[in-house]
Amino acid sequence: MKDYYQILRIPRSASKEEIKQAYRKLAHQYHPDKKGGDEQKFKEINEAYQVLGDERKKAHYDQFGSAFDSRGSDGFQGFDFRNFSGFGAGGFSASGGPAEGWDFGDIFSEFFGGGAKTSTKTRQSGADIEIDIILSLEEAFSGIEREIALRKYIQCPRCAGKKNEPGSSFSDCARCKGTGEIRREQRTFLGSFTQVTTCAHCEGAGKIAQTKCKQCGGAGRIQETEKILIKVPRGIENGQIVELKGKGEAGEGGYGNLYIEVHVREHTQFRRKGADIYSEREISLTQAVLGDTVGVLTLSGNVEVQIPAGIKHGEMIKLEGKGMARLGTGGLGDQYVQVMIKMPKRLSRKATELFEELKREGL
Ligand SMILES: [Zn+2]
Ligand SMILES: [Zn+2]
Repeated sequence: MKDYYQILRIPRSASKEEIKQAYRKLAHQYHPDKKGGDEQKFKEINEAYQVLGDERKKAHYDQFGSAFDSRGSDGFQGFDFRNFSGFGAGGFSASGGPAEGWDFGDIFSEFFGGGAKTSTKTRQSGADIEIDIILSLEEAFSGIEREIALRKYIQCPRCAGKKNEPGSSFSDCARCKGTGEIRREQRTFLGSFTQVTTCAHCEGAGKIAQTKCKQCGGAGRIQETEKILIKVPRGIENGQIVELKGKGEAGEGGYGNLYIEVHVREHTQFRRKGADIYSEREISLTQAVLGDTVGVLTLSGNVEVQIPAGIKHGEMIKLEGKGMARLGTGGLGDQYVQVMIKMPKRLSRKATELFEELKREGL
């Protein structure tokens, strides 16, 4: 019996939000397309979330959980909860056998809050790919174009994904009689349900190539390294995702998407708040008293800033239009420079005399 709570590393008392958070963190960590990913763990994590992330399924699991185990040694493996008519989990089913059964696309729409994602994937569409890129704040300011090399499945160029040797014909799949689906009626204590799986023999196509394509061996796709130009717009924020439609893996029903999560490194001198930049500038005691013009570093380069005489320690000077690029609009935010007055620690004899004189002046 699998313990879904243990898989997600959460207590049984975990809230809906905690379950979601745990799932996102772990799914991210073990995603098979990532370095250090683990497909088996990733599937387990998703399996656990399919149940615990759904209030009705969770309630069933909490109540009857161990009863599921009586179905046999394979536990939940390869069993598609989403096909339980009793759960009313409206019509999408996994493809293929257990190993093929996870549509990464659905997982990503979770990740990216993508309720709005207008994916019209069929169950055999290619997997989405997620990659990360790390930018400096300067690169996020200017926007970048970067070419990456991505090893992934592409549609077989010889058969155009049709799997047959060009010119050869197809016959109906004998196992599914050309429907591409295998249906099984089952009765359990939860009620009867129809389990629909994609025909493994024809992989849902309903037809079989009489002569397999020589290049892909009838798989319809081949692995290749593709060079992809990634354009990150100026003003992008840490954690935002750039979507490249159709740049994921090739599948039966077309290509998945490529998602690029952008990480913007912390800057040593700038702090970013939206489109505004905060920085500090140290000035001397005499500059503070007398005023001065000083150089200040901004993302647009060095600028001359007027320090008014008598400025106080910690006072902010606003540099309009010298901040971060605003995503989408092309405008710039502001930079706020906090003035830090450096107090002299050790005075020369001459300086001491001068300060003594200032003291007599009443300063
Ligand atoms: Zn081919
Ligand atoms: Zn078939």
